[in-house]
This record gives sequence, C-alpha cells and structure tokens, in this order.
Amino acid sequence: MASDKILGIDLGTTNSAMAVMENGDPEVIVNGEGDRTTPSVVAYNDDELIVGEPAKNQAIQNPENTVESIKRHMGEEDYTVELGGESYTPEEVSAHILQKIKNDAETYLGEEIERAVITVPAYFNDKQRQATKDAGRIAGFDVERIINEPTAAAMAYGLDDTRDQSVLVFDLGGGTFDVSVLELGDGVHEVVATNGDTSLGGDDWDETVKEWLADHFEDEHDISLRDDRQALQRLRDAAEKAKIELSSRKETEVNLPFIASTDEGPMHLEKSITRDTFQDLTDHLVERTSAPTKKALSDAGYSTDEIDEVILVGGSTRIPVIKEQVADIVGMEPQMNVNPDEAAALGAAIQGGVLSGEVDDLVLLDVTPLSLGVEVKGGLFERIINANTTIPTSESKVFTTAEDEQRQVQIRVFQGEREVAEENELLDEFKLRGIPPAPAGTPKIELTFQIDESGIMHVAAKERDSGEHEKVTIEGGVGLSDKEVERMKQDAQQHSDEDEMQRRRIEAQTHAEQMKQRAERVLQENRDAIANNVVQELEAAIDDAETALEESTTDISRYDRVASQIETTLGKVDESKLSSPKSEDNALTDAGTGETATAEAGGEVDNVDASFRDLSDD
Ligand code: ADP
Ligand code: MG
Repeated sequence: MASDKILGIDLGTTNSAMAVMENGDPEVIVNGEGDRTTPSVVAYNDDELIVGEPAKNQAIQNPENTVESIKRHMGEEDYTVELGGESYTPEEVSAHILQKIKNDAETYLGEEIERAVITVPAYFNDKQRQATKDAGRIAGFDVERIINEPTAAAMAYGLDDTRDQSVLVFDLGGGTFDVSVLELGDGVHEVVATNGDTSLGGDDWDETVKEWLADHFEDEHDISLRDDRQALQRLRDAAEKAKIELSSRKETEVNLPFIASTDEGPMHLEKSITRDTFQDLTDHLVERTSAPTKKALSDAGYSTDEIDEVILVGGSTRIPVIKEQVADIVGMEPQMNVNPDEAAALGAAIQGGVLSGEVDDLVLLDVTPLSLGVEVKGGLFERIINANTTIPTSESKVFTTAEDEQRQVQIRVFQGEREVAEENELLDEFKLRGIPPAPAGTPKIELTFQIDESGIMHVAAKERDSGEHEKVTIEGGVGLSDKEVERMKQDAQQHSDEDEMQRRRIEAQTHAEQMKQRAERVLQENRDAIANNVVQELEAAIDDAETALEESTTDISRYDRVASQIETTLGKVDESKLSSPKSEDNALTDAGTGETATAEAGGEVDNVDASFRDLSDD
C-alpha cells in the first residue's frame, strides 16, 4: 500500500538527500549504504547502471561511463550522455538518482512512497523546473511541488513566519554558490533577491589542492601526473578528503601509494598539508563569495545590519574560513544548528508535510529569477512578469497589431533583462491566428503569463472580439544552463546604457511611424472633409516623417519632431471626423503569412506605442 507521506528531496549537483516528516518533525532518511547523502553520480559498470557512492567510487577506473553533475544540464534540449552505449537525457540520468532515492526510502520506511517535493535553485528557469519535475515522474513519483532551495533551507532552520524577519541564505555546495535574501512574516516566506556564482563550489577547492599536490610531486620527482587521468582522479579524491579533514583538524596527511611508475620502480605521493597552507591556497576562492553576497543584499534593498538571521547551507560552508567570511560581511554569526548539506531536504519534507496536512500555518512564496515577456514590433522586449516577482503569479497585458488587416500575430516569449528581445533567451514562440481584419492598432490581444506553484509557465493569447485563443506551456526549445543565467544578468548590466538608448530610439522611431500611418489613414478616409491648408500641412508632415524613417536616423529628437508635427496638425482636424482610433497598445510581431513569420523581427518598425494598458487595472 502506498503511504500518504511525501518525501522531501534535495536533488543536488554533487549530492542528493532525502527526508520525511516523522511525528511532526522532519527526519533525514539514510540511503541503502547507510549514508545521509547520496552522491549524484550515475555510472555504467558490469552491464548495469549503478548510482550513488558505488558509482562515485568507480569513477577513477571508469570515467567514460560515469556521469557527474548532470544537474548543470537540466532542461538543456538535445543534450545527452552515453552510458554503456545508450544515450540518456539529463532528465533520465536524474531519474536514476531519484529512483535509487525512492527505493532506499521505501526500504527504510517499509512502505511505498509515491509523492515527492523536490528542491531546485532559486534561479532555475521554467524549463529547468519542468525538467526536474519530469525526472521525478520518470522515477515514478507524483511530484507535488518544486520549491526553491533557500526557501526550503529557511524552513529547515525553523525560521518561523510569525514575526517579520529578513534572512540571508548562503549556500556553497560542490559546484555552485547561491546566495538569497528571504523575507519572513505574516505567514509568508518570500525570496526577495538571489545572486551567486554558478561556477564556484567545493570542486574548486579540491582542484586547487589537487594542483598543489601535483606541483609538489613534479618538483620532487620531476614527474608530471597531469597526463595520467587515473592519477589525476586519485589526486582529486585525495584533495577532497584532505579538504574535508581540514574543516575539523589543523593538519592532515595525503598518502597516495603507486601514484606513478618509473624505471626505478613505483613512486608514492606523501605530503602533509596544514590548514594555514590550505587557506593561503584557496583565499581567492573565499574572496569570490563576497561580491555576490553584497549584491544580493543591495538588490534586496538591505544594508547588512538589517539582516536578522544568516543561515549556512551546502557542504562547503563547513570550511571554517567560509563561516568567518560570512560573519565578516554580514556582521553577525551565522546559524549552523542544521547540517548544511541536509537543510534543503529537511525543508522539502516540511513542505511535504504542509501539503499532506501534517503541518499547517506555512505558505511558501518564491520569485522569478529573470524577467519574462514578449517581443514587440521593432524587436523590443516587453516585460510581462518582472524579475523577482513572487510566484505563483499571473499577469496580463493587452497588445495589438502592427499592420492594417493583419490576421495573425507571432508571439515570441523571452526571458532575460536586455531591452532587445533577441538578446534574451527565446523560450517558445507561437502564432495567434484568425484575427478579424481591422486597422492596425485596433485589435485587442490579451496575453496572460501564468506561473504555477512549481514555477512552470503557461502563456495564453486571446483576441478579445473574436475570442480566438491559443496557449502554450513552456517546455522544449533551448535550455539555459546555470552559467547562462548568470551571464545574462551580467550582460544586461553591462549593456544597460546602450540598451536604454536603443529602446528610446526604437520607441521614438515606432511612434513616428505610427503617427505617419495614422495621418495617412485620416487623409485617405476624410480628405474631402478637411480644410485644404490642413491637408497640405499634413502631407508635408507625412513627407518629413517618411524621410526620417527612410534614413532610419539615430537622432531620436528628429523622430520626436516629425511625430509631434503630425500630432499638432492632426489637432487641427475636427475630432469627429477622425474615424480610426488611436492605439494605446504595444504591437506584437506580425506573423506574416507563414514561412517568413519571424524573419522581420527586429527589422521594420510599426505602430508601437510605448504605453500599454495593464489589464489588471481593468
Ligand atoms: P550540492 O548542493 O552541490 O549537491 P553539497 O551541499 O552536498 O552539494 O556540498 C558538497 C560539497 O561540500 C563537496 O564539495 C564536498 O567536498 C563539500 N564538503 C562536504 N563536507 C565538507 C566538510 N566537512 N568540509 C569542507 N567541505 C565539505
Ligand atoms: Mg545543494
């Protein structure tokens, strides 16, 4: 019989952990090997797939058939790994880890476990979350919820939401560094800012020690170990072991017999390393946690003295200088009363308890790491959901067409912070067809972006008059790696000035184009009813606009001038004679007639008005 218990799972880059509610408290479940965490390693050995510690242990002999850190590729389409001649997607590899976790939990608990809550980094995009959910499904779980790791960790620390407090979550794992600022209070946990470094983690400390050992060996014996993959793997494992020992001891010994063979016989590596030496070697790595931590604080709008609690998450925060570094930056001692490598799993179990009714009084809120929006005419990115918006969320905006008689629009969904849509990550695109023929700017096309509790996004488009609608769930397309999310944020920062200029130019250009179209329509429809001198004035203004647009000048003020010239002249026309309405909505990309649908994105500019109406105000 299946249990109604919900398993909390931290599916980590290097290690995974699981926990479940027992008599009202979250408890870590040990795996089949009796360990509290399971290496996220899958390998093919002796005609079968093996997972966890046994897979990690044979990685030295069998690197070609061993997969580590698959989490970095979650949601990446077309990415596969080979194991025993078969190829596997990141979801499938992760499913093998989850399957082992599921089996071990069932053995431990003596009952079947079907339901799970799985944690993901706060910056995971929709596709990465969807992929994580899929991995769970493949492993045979009903994934009840995907929650953010820092939020889960705060819950594990028992930080309750009965009083207002701000919490800094500092998570240094095996391959990644994430820092988040949470706000608690009024029954709510909310992630208000996230930052980090997706290429910083315990592995870097291992690598540094490994290099130091290899250098030492080369100095002493004049033998390079760097071409011997097997020796390097042994060095790496010894380096990690030394690092871990130095968290509780002042000195440790590295012993690697038979690390090389020479004409004079086998060579052994024997070297002792002190904590001081270790700290000198890895000082630069510790330093790299500083800027992202400060950035997260400033993004959240906090100075360090406004933080009430600091909690440490991730195995690497057991390194003594890391604790000191955090204490230095924030000016207070971090909490460490929960094992840092178990916090996320414990929090996931608590969230499972909330869902199964075992725990009440907790609401979880997470945030979107990057902005989500669509491309509008001129190739600009129009945000619908801003970065750092609390999820679940639903936002709508009204858009329109760029061309007269336009029958379909292309809806291109992007994620990122750049002003030009193409510079961001394209998540999906689709067409809305069957728009009734109407002048440009008249149809009302309502776009709704909805992100559910698990961070999965649904995009719906609806033309209000005809009721034509279309929707997609964002999955498929190109995935974002952790590194890319970080790169995109930095990119946007670097280009913010030129992006701003470009946005202003395109908006001005588009406005001029729109005014010109409008004037042309007014002339076409009402020429006889308008005074002769006004007709001439309008024609001259249209000519000026056309010249500016044809020259596609970068002079913003020139677009503004020609647009206001038309506007002033139009003001002389009797209002009642103006039959065509003035659009206030952003125009979506014209979907054209089919094949060439997206070709004009970013190219020509039509009928975009910078202002838009936000439906939520209706
Ligand atoms: P992840 O979240 O990246 O899957 P963890 O939070 O479990 O991983 O962190 C794994 C990292 O923590 C590894 O680099 C491991 O070597 C390191 N680690 C574990 N225990 C210690 C320790 N006592 N001292 C220093 N580093 C440790
Ligand atoms: Mg982790």
